[in-house]
Amino acid sequence: MYTFRGGVHPFEGKDITEDKAVINVSPKGEMVFAVDQHIGAPATVCVNVGDVVKKGQIIAEPSGFISANILSSVSGKVKSIEDRFSIQGTKSTCIVIENDNLDTWDEKWGPDKAISDDAWKEYTRDKIIEIVKDAGIVGLGGAAFPTHIKLNPKNFEEIDTVLINGAECEPYLTSDYRDMIESKDSLICGCKILQKVFPNAVIKICIEDNKPSAIKSLAELTANEEKISIVTLKTKYPQGGERQLIYAVTKRKVNSKKLPSEVNVIVDNVGTVVAIYDAVVRRIPLLGRVITCSGDAFLKPGNYYVPCGMNYLTFINETCPFIATPKKIINGGTMMGTAVADLDVPFSKKSNALLAFIEDDEDIYETTPCINCKRCMDVCPINLMPMSMMKCALSLQYEEYNRLNGLECIECGCCTYVCPAKRPLTQNFKMMKKKTSEYLKAKEAGK
Ligand code: SF4
Ligand code: SF4
Repeated sequence: MYTFRGGVHPFEGKDITEDKAVINVSPKGEMVFAVDQHIGAPATVCVNVGDVVKKGQIIAEPSGFISANILSSVSGKVKSIEDRFSIQGTKSTCIVIENDNLDTWDEKWGPDKAISDDAWKEYTRDKIIEIVKDAGIVGLGGAAFPTHIKLNPKNFEEIDTVLINGAECEPYLTSDYRDMIESKDSLICGCKILQKVFPNAVIKICIEDNKPSAIKSLAELTANEEKISIVTLKTKYPQGGERQLIYAVTKRKVNSKKLPSEVNVIVDNVGTVVAIYDAVVRRIPLLGRVITCSGDAFLKPGNYYVPCGMNYLTFINETCPFIATPKKIINGGTMMGTAVADLDVPFSKKSNALLAFIEDDEDIYETTPCINCKRCMDVCPINLMPMSMMKCALSLQYEEYNRLNGLECIECGCCTYVCPAKRPLTQNFKMMKKKTSEYLKAKEAGK
């Protein structure tokens, strides 16, 4: 079975929601669209207060090479353009739209514009990439990298492997799994569209062995496909990390200074491939995403398709209420997710799972001194020395942190997970990566 060195196998918690079919949530209340729903330059607002907008209309345009369109998920009127907070706790420009509940589609999009599952074969590679760009598609695996850029590397003819990431190794998350079960035909057609974009590549759908139903049904669907196959991965966190996945399947190595395309590989999440199919064939742009709501604080944990722009609190109150006030809310999985302070914020393309727990387990742990057990080193998938990096973090030694390759840390949380002294390793590395990069930049500039 395909795998990588290091990693951990945390409590999975997937049984809570893995059999829950995706529930479609209708937009309700005021809709708020941030201009930074992707990695790269924030989009530039292209509507004014008072404008009437349609569903699927571009309301903010890319403002740099790495940037993406922002589309309205409702029809209505632009009420204001103002700074608002996101679930990540950052503030950015947001377009606030009063939903008119008429669902009036933009001329370019809508179910009545859908084409047949074969008609796209007449499209050129450039046309497919243009549609993906228009649809505002970004990577839905967490990074939110604009997909039209990823689909268009300079060496696209040299790309020999496209990995479809269905590992979903984070505990509790089941939205990709539901996509692989409920949208399997769309996923396979999306893979065929990617074959047109990368004509010399084979497509490998990579799934951990704890998802046998997805492996079986997709293997049946692709049995006669020459260039699409299923790869079974060992269940281990962070198997779905881009670098770990590439290494596990191709034995090629990528670091923070190298793009996957430089080793002739492209990685796309299953949700992103379904979004590509939706845009190209169903003519539905990226207006929302499937998220898993799980944890003992939810009355109805499950998988929900939530429109971008909808307020988290509105969603919780109307659709997925708490049974008790949670002491811990996490945006994302338990390994890489971040604690949420305020839910009065909008869903975005960057939204991930929402986990809510009645108790905060971390409350009972006390941090004690390092006992040099080296467990953190054994599990680090990047072969780093977390205990030494932590010493640098505590004394703010940026040069030494860089010498230890601390900037290569992928913030996976494995070291923190196994540390018997309960040391907040990953949390410190996040801060150190930022500060060390700033230090090195200033040093290079001679400051
Ligand atoms: S796992 Fe924790 S206690 Fe053990 S060496 Fe690493 S930092 Fe120290
Ligand atoms: S040092 Fe970074 S990459 Fe290594 S285990 Fe810790 S968080 Fe993961």
